Amino acid sequence: MNEINSSLYIEVAVPFPVYNTYIYKVPEQYADLIAPGSRVFVPFGSKRTTGYVLGFAKAKEFKGKILSILDLLDSKPIFPKNMIPFFKWASDYYIYPIGEAIKSALPKKVDFYEQTFFSITNAGKEFIKTEENFSAQKKILESLIKKDLTIKGLRAKFGDSAPASLLYSIEKKGFVKKYSKIKGKSSFKRRIKKDRLGEKIIRDAPYPLTKEQASVIESINSSLFNGFKTFLLAGVTGSGKTEVYMNIAAKTIEKGLSVILMVPEISLISQIERRFKARFGETVAVLHSSLAAGERYFEWMKILNKEAKIAIGARSALFAPFENLGAIIVDEEHDTSYKDSGGFGYNAKDLASVRAKLANAIAILGSATPSVASYYNVISEKYEGLYLKNRIKKRVLPNVEIVDMRQKKDLKGIKKFITSELKLAIADNLKIKKQTLLFLNRRGFANLSICAQCASPLRCKRCDISLTLHQKDNIYRCHLCGYFQSVNAVCNVCGSNSIKKLGFGTEKIEAAINSLFSNAKTIRIDKDTTKKKGSLVRLLKKIKNKKADIIIGTQMIAKGHDFPDITLAGIICADISLNFPDFRAGEQTFQLLAQVAGRAGRGDLKGRVILQTFNPDHFAILSAKEQDFIKFYNQDIVFRKGLNYPPFSRLIQIKIEGKDKKKALQTAYNIGELCKDLTGKKAKNSIEILGPVESPIAKIASMFRWQILIKGTNSSTLRRFANKLFFDNQKAFKVSGIKTTIDVDPIFMM
Ligand code: ADP
Ligand code: ZN
Ligand code: ZN
Repeated sequence: MNEINSSLYIEVAVPFPVYNTYIYKVPEQYADLIAPGSRVFVPFGSKRTTGYVLGFAKAKEFKGKILSILDLLDSKPIFPKNMIPFFKWASDYYIYPIGEAIKSALPKKVDFYEQTFFSITNAGKEFIKTEENFSAQKKILESLIKKDLTIKGLRAKFGDSAPASLLYSIEKKGFVKKYSKIKGKSSFKRRIKKDRLGEKIIRDAPYPLTKEQASVIESINSSLFNGFKTFLLAGVTGSGKTEVYMNIAAKTIEKGLSVILMVPEISLISQIERRFKARFGETVAVLHSSLAAGERYFEWMKILNKEAKIAIGARSALFAPFENLGAIIVDEEHDTSYKDSGGFGYNAKDLASVRAKLANAIAILGSATPSVASYYNVISEKYEGLYLKNRIKKRVLPNVEIVDMRQKKDLKGIKKFITSELKLAIADNLKIKKQTLLFLNRRGFANLSICAQCASPLRCKRCDISLTLHQKDNIYRCHLCGYFQSVNAVCNVCGSNSIKKLGFGTEKIEAAINSLFSNAKTIRIDKDTTKKKGSLVRLLKKIKNKKADIIIGTQMIAKGHDFPDITLAGIICADISLNFPDFRAGEQTFQLLAQVAGRAGRGDLKGRVILQTFNPDHFAILSAKEQDFIKFYNQDIVFRKGLNYPPFSRLIQIKIEGKDKKKALQTAYNIGELCKDLTGKKAKNSIEILGPVESPIAKIASMFRWQILIKGTNSSTLRRFANKLFFDNQKAFKVSGIKTTIDVDPIFMM
């Protein structure tokens, strides 16, 4: 019989920066076991690597020598076959190598797989005694007396004189026995019965729905098993969105389908996880990055083995290996942490709709402050909009009072930022023994230390951003790369030792509050106080147990938590993020402020918010005051349309970084020229090239940074353009010592 025809061939993706897939031959002994979604061990160039089986292939179409796989790493696929078109779509859209895309979708740091070990049998031992020839067979058997080994291990020892086929023939003779063992499995405790604050999770039952909830559920339900659709659930904070998610999840499970629930990264101890576990118990799998490797493996297997019907996690939960998906829910859909900032650069919120579509499922995006892009999709009838306008139990939204900081110019220093209005409100709140939250937007806050002589700011030598004073440690620190300088540092422009501090951080606010309210217990939640593992949980526990009267915090505290005793929220300076060089600055400011305001008054008492700002008339501030996202949208969309920003256009950003300044600039310039050539020839009117320009943060960790922004009115024209640019000019992109990244639909453009 013709050998070619009887052989089995597979298509394999390898985790390397390559955009093709590769064909391998499958030795006979693996033929019955191999399936799409399995991992194989393959030779690749001069290396050997894990690869992912994407399907079976025909050898005829390939010229040249086809290599055989070296080993099969799983006896069962580690992701279902029907996820392969999804991986292909994502890899294509984000112009990212498919093997690397799959690798980053699988639980990280866990090189887990079922390994096949060989052990010698008594017959094998007898054979060695009688066999006089010094054969490869004998060598292998002798080494197995000392220790059981895998094919990989045997190969490491004997090289190619121990081919898999020889082993399998020895096995057939009965000299060795195969067994499997899981690699990467470690011991760990299950967390299902306690939440992350260590409190018991008691099973609960659904609430009787409110009229609004019932009507929203009715709309979703009517299309739940009717093919793909995306819903945007816009519901004010505390309007019962989570109860809606749980209701839909229950219905989906009833039909034998499964559910993915995504939550933003920050919610380490998200309330929602606790509530889902209370409602659904053992059937919930959790895919957090905070889990230990063994735990993550365990949760992944629970899904694969169909013991879990619901997967909850941050953006990587998008890749939960469900074969029969019914619904994907994205909570806090406006949150930018759904965008991966690594190489893959996928947006899990956008991909939620794609995966749902390929699985014929539904996607639900929920938020109190929906993103402009998502609401635009409702307006243009791509999504169906659903609304929860009232808080549960008729709890009213907090009352937001705006304090105009422009009137406070005469006050000096830090105290200027604790206005008399805020001070009074805190005092009142302390009197009724309720908790106060003070919020400072640290992101981008210019905690500027400047030279009194020449006014130059103290900057990080590597990152070109200003350093922040850390009083406790007596140092100035760079928040991007960690570089630090002693407080005794002199100005690196003129050498003067008179450095003055403008601006301030949470530490300063805490000190000021302590001096103003010496009897109050304060705690601070920011990057510095939560560095140690478990410290955030400890601080949150303190809030929950009322061991703190005043909580001073950053973004970390803005979302996902539900503390009923916080009745006052003070926003120290609402404007900070408004000044970012980014077209989403207004949107992100609005969302952040509305979310912080939403933290107040979650219990039975009405909440109060003091919002201090230098821009009391800005529409982002005014819409946040009213927690009215449509009001914000209606103004922001006009600005976006005027400047042809998304959602009216799509963006692809090329980032060029390198330690060699000249080389980085030259690479950026070369790619820029290629862009211009290509626009000249093609798609002239619909593609616009911005740059190359130095990035707003021109240097991070000694890397000089440049960027080119490609703007396209039509998504597919833009993608074709980017593909052509990249794949026809690989040389221009692959420059030694220079990192080029293609960011499709960029969000972090600094
Ligand atoms: P959101 O997710 O919109 O912030 P939640 O789902 O957390 O709102 O609901 C707010 C509070 O109201 C929660 O404590 C929740 O348990 C409660 N709740 C939700 N739905 C109902 C209902 N139908 N009846 C009574 N209480 C409800
Ligand atoms: Zn730095
Ligand atoms: Zn100076």
